[in-house]
Amino acid sequence: MKAFTYSRAASAQDAAQAIAKPGAAIIAGGTNLLDLMKLQVETPSKLIDINRLPLDRIEETPDGGLRIGTLVRNSDLAADPRVRQHYGVLSRALLAGASAQLRNKATTGGNLLQRTRCYYFYDISKPCNKRAPGSGCAAIGGFNRIHAILGTSDACIATHPSDMAVAMQALEANVETVKPDGSTRAIPMAEFHRLPGKTPQIETALEVGETITAVRLPPPLPGLHIYRKVRDRASYAFALVSVAAVIQTAGGKISSARLAFGGLAHKPWRVPAAEQALTGAAPSTTVFDQAADTVLQGARGYGSNDFKIPLTRRTLRAVLAQATQS
Ligand code: SF4
Repeated sequence: MKAFTYSRAASAQDAAQAIAKPGAAIIAGGTNLLDLMKLQVETPSKLIDINRLPLDRIEETPDGGLRIGTLVRNSDLAADPRVRQHYGVLSRALLAGASAQLRNKATTGGNLLQRTRCYYFYDISKPCNKRAPGSGCAAIGGFNRIHAILGTSDACIATHPSDMAVAMQALEANVETVKPDGSTRAIPMAEFHRLPGKTPQIETALEVGETITAVRLPPPLPGLHIYRKVRDRASYAFALVSVAAVIQTAGGKISSARLAFGGLAHKPWRVPAAEQALTGAAPSTTVFDQAADTVLQGARGYGSNDFKIPLTRRTLRAVLAQATQS
């Protein structure tokens, strides 16, 4: 690990100003950053600790939603009675992620900003456009079992590893931020993570120095909340495919549907056209498969990950069958 200095931020704006300078990085739970530093994938010269800032609360908002401070630990968020009762898809997604020890340390903001688990990204002897722009992509033509099938580019086929972000995408959350000049904004989850394109090293819509302060959830969505994660082990493994679903039925038909997918792309994947196709339809395998066709439009495998295309179809079919069984 390379030497670095350490200081504590006095406020969120103070942190934003500090990380606007080259070489500085925020540390909160550190569950991803410390691994990256040990492997010299990231080599910040200055760490800004935000753990003592008052950003660890879950508050009810005037519109009936929730505001989750960026420092709320994953385990606290999953166990919060309001989240368990009204945002079941989020609680389940959190509990499907990492291990109990990691969830006790990992924060809401850090979860959104965690880096891909592409093996080549973590191996500094290999070419990787995300770690070293212009060096190439070892995963294309290499071993790519965990890699993306949607939204890929010639520069990068990595996936985003978060479960929490997939549920937040289905819930249409907003990410609240502060910039170095003190101004704030809310970024819709749909726009927060980026596709790789030619610049896979730029992963989010955050500007230089811009710092996450909270995630705001809209009022609860009625319906059955499901998070199904398919992975190589029963715990402590990243998703090969995951589905966050909130499905409401009435009179033998699907009256509303929200779907988001993990393990498929550089960002949590959502296809509103698939949700619209399900809305008003009577549940059937044909209807479920049509929704899967819409989700998988443009999907392509890279060899080792070809299996993700049929696996996505089967997983969505199972989730929709579970959500609509009477
Ligand atoms: Fe790097 Fe992306 Fe290629 Fe992985 S898939 S080696 S992260 S450029």
